[in-house]
Amino acid sequence: MSVVVLGSANLDLVYEVDRIPAPGETLLSRGFAAFPGGKGNNQAIATARSGATVRFIVALGQDAAGDRLAAEARRAGISLEDRRTDAPTGTAVIFVDRHGENAIVVDSGANAALTDLTESELASIAAADLLVLQLETPLDTVADAAAAARSSETTVILNAAPSTTVPAGLLGQVDLLIVNEHEAAELAGEPDGTGERLPVAALTGHGCAVIVTLGAEGALVAVPGREPVKVPAIEVEAKDTTGAGDTFVGALAAALDRGTRATDLASLVAATEFATAAAAIAVQRKGAVPSIPTLKEVEEFREHRR
Ligand code: ATP
Repeated sequence: MSVVVLGSANLDLVYEVDRIPAPGETLLSRGFAAFPGGKGNNQAIATARSGATVRFIVALGQDAAGDRLAAEARRAGISLEDRRTDAPTGTAVIFVDRHGENAIVVDSGANAALTDLTESELASIAAADLLVLQLETPLDTVADAAAAARSSETTVILNAAPSTTVPAGLLGQVDLLIVNEHEAAELAGEPDGTGERLPVAALTGHGCAVIVTLGAEGALVAVPGREPVKVPAIEVEAKDTTGAGDTFVGALAAALDRGTRATDLASLVAATEFATAAAAIAVQRKGAVPSIPTLKEVEEFREHRR
């Protein structure tokens, strides 16, 4: 599969602290580390580790953080179509206290400058089998990319996260929508629509297939006009679920059959089973990017669990 991921990249700056600082307070950190992050970056790495050929359209600053993210993506085997902007590379400052509670501030930085797709970016989208989008980059760019993909028969996956309002016109350009249950409820305009009352039919009504991820419960796969199929999660001892959603999306993109459309229930269920195994490995490991498994690891895990 040749996959284009268009999306965000951030450097995550993680501080271990005794407590989340109060207003006006200065604290000494007990530890610090910087990691690659951002939904687009994580999903591009997950797609590449699951064996697909990946091109990543991203905006980075002309700074050391941008150089580091670019180098790490290339090391993961991704071809980068990176713009270098005047704005700094996106960052997330993350405080984690002794109880694992966190407080996060995100500066979108260069990610907000991913506007007006170039001829070369549009050509990459048109040439790909699959386009993967999320919502940490400007909505107009996401919509333009989806429209370009649609007009050249590139399958479009939208992971509608983080939760925001998505124009119905954009959903009409999407083949497969991937959301967690809170995002599903928000998108369908049904704030109580979680658990047993998942608003799946309201979403497939846009003509797209929908996968709702349910954490340790697994995922629900729905296509227009058919009964949804539940794919259970694989029982494991979860250590850190950070990045489970991004691992799931990337692994699923790599596992789909070429040319998959919204009605291809069997192909979607098979890819969901693969993504479920990849995510089950990821939750047993710490961190986001370091927890994402390779194709070989997923295959061995599935063989072992058979
Ligand atoms: P996040 O934003 O935390 O990355 P998310 O809310 O987008 O995650 P989830 O629904 O929490 O996504 O998880 C995605 C997939 O990961 C699930 O569908 C499931 O397959 C797997 N998963 C999550 N938590 C567990 C768990 N505790 N045990 C096994 N698998 C899990």
